[in-house]
Amino acid sequence: MVTSFNACKTRTQSTFSDLPSKQSILQYLQTLFHGINNRFAFFLIPRIHLETITARVVRGQQYPRQPLSELGEAQKVNTYESVTGSIVGFWSPAYMDGVSVSGLHMHFLSEDRSYGGHVLEMRSASKFELQAALLNEFDLELADNEEFGDAELGMGGEALRRVEG
Ligand SMILES: [Zn+2]
Repeated sequence: MVTSFNACKTRTQSTFSDLPSKQSILQYLQTLFHGINNRFAFFLIPRIHLETITARVVRGQQYPRQPLSELGEAQKVNTYESVTGSIVGFWSPAYMDGVSVSGLHMHFLSEDRSYGGHVLEMRSASKFELQAALLNEFDLELADNEEFGDAELGMGGEALRRVEG
């Protein structure tokens, strides 16, 4: 997913005083946008101090078309205490599952850009700014070649849940 966040007409921002869990992001998005359950939203926390964060990293493919199920087995989960960094993420409604991964999906990057990953859980007691925008339209472009036509594609299923859930 690629978006021009800064130019987005629906962009808004608000300051919140704490983040008891990853799922709190959804509650905060609900205060910014009506009916978030059916909407598609992008969000950014430019800087946040976290008491703790657990993030997962998956290394790149070791050979062309390596299946996600195999990549998922080589993933690493790290927990960091008292760290500062930024977070970007999406909220995708349940009906988008398949094209996107439904629910909250966010990535963390440390301030010195030396570590990060897919956020599994996090907690903060500090003030932070949440910038968010609704995505009311997007383009989906499919590859127009034989390789794509011949690929065995389906729903991400369990392998996707293990890597991106
Ligand atoms: Zn991810």
